[in-house]
Amino acid sequence: MSERYYVNSPIADHVVLQGAEARHLAVVCRKRPGDVICLFNGDGCEYRAEITSVDKKRVDLTVIDTTSPPRELPFSLDVACPLPKGDRGQFLIEKLTELGVTSFMPLRTRRSVVHPSESRSEKLERYVIEASKQCGRNVLMRIAPLQFLDDLLRRPELPAQRLLADPSGRPLTRPASLLHTIIAIGPEGGFAEEELAAATAALWQSVSLGPRTLRVETAALAMAALFGHTSTSV
Ligand code: SAH
Repeated sequence: MSERYYVNSPIADHVVLQGAEARHLAVVCRKRPGDVICLFNGDGCEYRAEITSVDKKRVDLTVIDTTSPPRELPFSLDVACPLPKGDRGQFLIEKLTELGVTSFMPLRTRRSVVHPSESRSEKLERYVIEASKQCGRNVLMRIAPLQFLDDLLRRPELPAQRLLADPSGRPLTRPASLLHTIIAIGPEGGFAEEELAAATAALWQSVSLGPRTLRVETAALAMAALFGHTSTSV
């Protein structure tokens, strides 16, 4: 895979990179006219493009060809999870992107403490783009608005497979088929009893990942890896 750059607009025959991406290409990667790189904008395709002129504020490119390599899961995998603070939140977003998760929903529960602001969600989108450059995804993981657990449980259009991670749940078994799936993870203080009861009433299955208490991000990534992996094992 050649070096990948993100463009926040539709890609036609001629593309202009500006801002941080142009600077990175020109100053950090020291690319020159004639070099070939890869562009993506989240539309599912990647575009091989040749650099025609370089300046640290502006890079001009001509698109050579377009492909759409299959790097997405063949089903939707949504993760609702309270956002851990600081670097742990960044780590979680990057790894969920790499694992192919369709959308991340920052979750608000009775015991959660961090509730990302608008500016934080722009940052989260930046982490998604950086991780997508590295892992080759051409569709960006969506960052959904903050979601209240009670609203999420009641949403009518949820996937058939709805899982809530909780140490008191039934032991998790390997999923057999490629189903649209949503996974909910609790905050450091865990789900409250009434939240667990509401989830069961809304036909969510409560599942355990074993006898140890995992950090929020470990539980989210373990669940995403288990459920995302089925795409390659059948
Ligand atoms: N003291 C809390 C632990 C919270 S850990 C409690 O007893 O629930 C934060 C979240 O990570 C949990 O709400 C759950 O969603 C997930 N988690 C942590 N360890 C887990 C395990 N062993 N099995 C399933 N989910 C787990």
